[in-house]
Amino acid sequence: MEMEELYQEILLDHFKHPRNAAVLDPSEVLADEENPLCGDHIRLAARVADGILQDIRHETRGCAISVASASMMSERLRGLSTEEAGRRIADFLAFMRGEKELSESELGDLAALGGVRKFPLRIKCVTLGWHAMEKALAKLAPPPR
Ligand code: ZN
Repeated sequence: MEMEELYQEILLDHFKHPRNAAVLDPSEVLADEENPLCGDHIRLAARVADGILQDIRHETRGCAISVASASMMSERLRGLSTEEAGRRIADFLAFMRGEKELSESELGDLAALGGVRKFPLRIKCVTLGWHAMEKALAKLAPPPR
């Protein structure tokens, strides 16, 4: 199978069966982000205990890329420490902006989103969920002052 096809399959699978998707109660929403360019919308909830992201749930409505990316984000970051999650988010956002290359092993399935870098108007579809998680983390684990 060609890589492009494999990536399409991965994205489609996450779009059709988004991981950690949930219907959220407004009281638990930590981040509510929109991408007006495409009409994508995410609401996100998360829980931290002992410095670990125990739970990430999201309600994402929008194009296939935005839903698949939020699904992959939730799968990738769940179970990590808040510091590690923050680093992964920063790395992935830098990768999407073309400022940083990540190895195949660092990317894993996220490589399927890398092709979107060629389409600047769609990059916000990919980054929406990651920005939402960044916002949620800032509320859950504010940096020490
Ligand atoms: Zn979109």
